[in-house]
Amino acid sequence: MEIIEKVTNTDHERVLFARDTESGYRGIIAIHSTALGPAVGGTRFWNYATEEEALTDALRLSRGMTYKTALPGLPFGGGKSIIIGDNKTPDREALFRAHGRFVDTLRGRYITAEDVGTSPADMEIVRLETRHVAGLSGLSGDPSPYTARGVFRAMQAATKFLWNTDDLAGVTVAVQGCGHVGYHLAKMLHTTGAKLVVTDVDDRSVTRVREEFDAEIVQPNEIFSVRADIFAPCALGGVINDETIPELKAQIIAGAANNQLLDERHGEMLSERNILYAPDYVANAGGVLNGCVELLGWNSELASRKVDEIYDTIWTIFEAARAQAIPPNHAADRLAEERLRTPTTD
Ligand code: NAD
Repeated sequence: MEIIEKVTNTDHERVLFARDTESGYRGIIAIHSTALGPAVGGTRFWNYATEEEALTDALRLSRGMTYKTALPGLPFGGGKSIIIGDNKTPDREALFRAHGRFVDTLRGRYITAEDVGTSPADMEIVRLETRHVAGLSGLSGDPSPYTARGVFRAMQAATKFLWNTDDLAGVTVAVQGCGHVGYHLAKMLHTTGAKLVVTDVDDRSVTRVREEFDAEIVQPNEIFSVRADIFAPCALGGVINDETIPELKAQIIAGAANNQLLDERHGEMLSERNILYAPDYVANAGGVLNGCVELLGWNSELASRKVDEIYDTIWTIFEAARAQAIPPNHAADRLAEERLRTPTTD
């Protein structure tokens, strides 16, 4: 009963549940919107404590995808699917085939791809049951360098907005998380002459960035309070919160992590402290834009150009936020909602 209430209280178009007793598959597909085109969004494979938690994630992430694809004017909507279970399981064929059959029942209204806990190899299995899957090996490839490029462009728009320069040479950037995106971001920042302070819970990742890009390493709990101009969250969600905001010295936040603000009101707290926040789903859209190579037949030049345009989108959001005296996260949501009402896809 609670689950039905939870679903009917949202603005999602459809939420579906499926079970396959033979493989033990339990899955959810949430379609938030197909107003601009088929819903796209990855398959997350995670051992949720409860089904309600899995549903909450599916609802939140699918709405996020609608906004992420609407802002750059892509002809897609937002969706997400969840497989509940241990993502380290070696028995993947039956599970992902069951998932593929589930995705196929939507006949292209939803297109899936890899996400946390799934890989291109898993998507190859899904492909045996449905053609509505992207992120296959050897097609659009690793999205991380494109995501990093978009975050870099968001940083440039922010420094231009605050300090009237988009040259990041000499600027100090604190990077939280030196994984796929963090590594590529650090590389670009180092190349451009920025100074790096980095952290990661994984020693090998930080050591590599220190050795290759001359970065200073700090402990994970110190990254918020280091003297830096820009803070780049590239690890986890929810890191901008009541505890961390008072610690921040940076004047700009631009990073790759999804759902960086623990709560919407933290966007307001940042504005009150004159910290300029580049909304996460705008700054980290590079990976989705790169996915259009596979989904829309773009060439890599067009994909790169679209990723570079993240600069312009972030700029428009900052201007709207200033004009309307609202935090940039609200300005981004408003702009995305406007696009949903009056589609102008290209
Ligand atoms: P990743 O798993 O390769 O890297 C994340 C890194 O963060 C890891 O090295 C991990 O050890 C580190 N980490 C985890 N907890 C930490 C902590 N408490 N403090 C410091 N470091 C910590 O992931 P990724 O692909 O680089 O993605 C980074 C973030 O960006 C994720 O939130 C992801 O959802 C988001 N994102 C990624 C892409 C992409 O193209 N890969 C696109 C959009 C959004």
